[in-house]
Amino acid sequence: MQLNGKKILITTETRELTVIRREPGRCAESFCPKCCEYVEMLNFDAAISFSGIGGRELMMRLETGEIHSVERDSGHLQICGWSLKGRK
Ligand SMILES: [Zn+2]
Repeated sequence: MQLNGKKILITTETRELTVIRREPGRCAESFCPKCCEYVEMLNFDAAISFSGIGGRELMMRLETGEIHSVERDSGHLQICGWSLKGRK
């Protein structure tokens, strides 16, 4: 911009912050080897809340493979949301 022979430089700066919130206990999608799909994974407590299945019953279904799970290197169990819904 030229004004009275002086050059004025206007600089603007913008910032953007994106916040993604998830319900507690719900993990990002992970690969379920039994569904062969990327599905929503839940921790044990969230799986109980989500499905309404009691802890002991959930453990039994995990043992039989009716409900799928993946044990991470950290030892945490991730439970397949699809198998909880009975989709696979
Ligand atoms: Zn699965």
